[in-house]
Amino acid sequence: MVHLKTAEEIQIMRESASILAKTHGEVARLIKPGVKTRTLDKKAEEFIRDNEGIPSFLNYNGFPASLCISVNETVVHGFPGEYELKETDIVTIDCGVKFKGYHSDAAYTYPLEGVRSEVLDLLNRTYDSLYKGIEQAKAGNRIGDVSNAIQSYVEQFGYGVVRELVGHGVGKSLHEDPEVPNYGKRGKGPKIVPGMVFAIEPMINMGTKQVVQERDGWTIRTSDRKPSAHFEHTVAIHEDRTEVLTTHEDIEKNYSYKWRSKSR
Ligand code: MG
Ligand code: MG
Repeated sequence: MVHLKTAEEIQIMRESASILAKTHGEVARLIKPGVKTRTLDKKAEEFIRDNEGIPSFLNYNGFPASLCISVNETVVHGFPGEYELKETDIVTIDCGVKFKGYHSDAAYTYPLEGVRSEVLDLLNRTYDSLYKGIEQAKAGNRIGDVSNAIQSYVEQFGYGVVRELVGHGVGKSLHEDPEVPNYGKRGKGPKIVPGMVFAIEPMINMGTKQVVQERDGWTIRTSDRKPSAHFEHTVAIHEDRTEVLTTHEDIEKNYSYKWRSKSR
């Protein structure tokens, strides 16, 4: 069942998303070779709590951290820990904030400065696919229009679209209806109506779409161990426009490597 949000609820979610965007911006300052992923997680948790939020992911179904940190072939749900980032890594930071009872959810994949151009292409194109999806996320369309926009854009490059993990409604629960797959047919799926708030989050693999779960019960990686990228926004549907509640602006301002202009 889809919970449609009132204007008042969307206003709270806007504030939740604003804390989330700033949290991402704080983490962005720390991303460099040698940093432990645990340090990033600690920063995020402190910043969220200092701003009267609650980390949505911490203890969610037993998840042990405030950030999902997924390096290289890890698609999603990686644990922060003692691992130190390397010059040639890509790293996805996925974060959720709960504020006054409402969640927001956003993710971003960073390349470090030694990442090769084929991998930068994967990141640039996955980033672009998120916006292709957002363009279709408007009142009157269907979820399949969003799904198809993402899938058709990235598959032309031979990339694999992960099937097992999908975007989702966001609200009082971190994951609500509707599901927002990154693959599908135009004109199919639930109708998009004002008051819907959902996360769009392409998870795109350089090689096969197949993924496997590690024995820790959480970490998902590509089965061919090629890299995977993930960008996510939470959007709110209004009658006449779609509002991206989360933003990557703080990330792009604070991350030292201006990679988006590279290799396209
Ligand atoms: Mg997320
Ligand atoms: Mg999500």
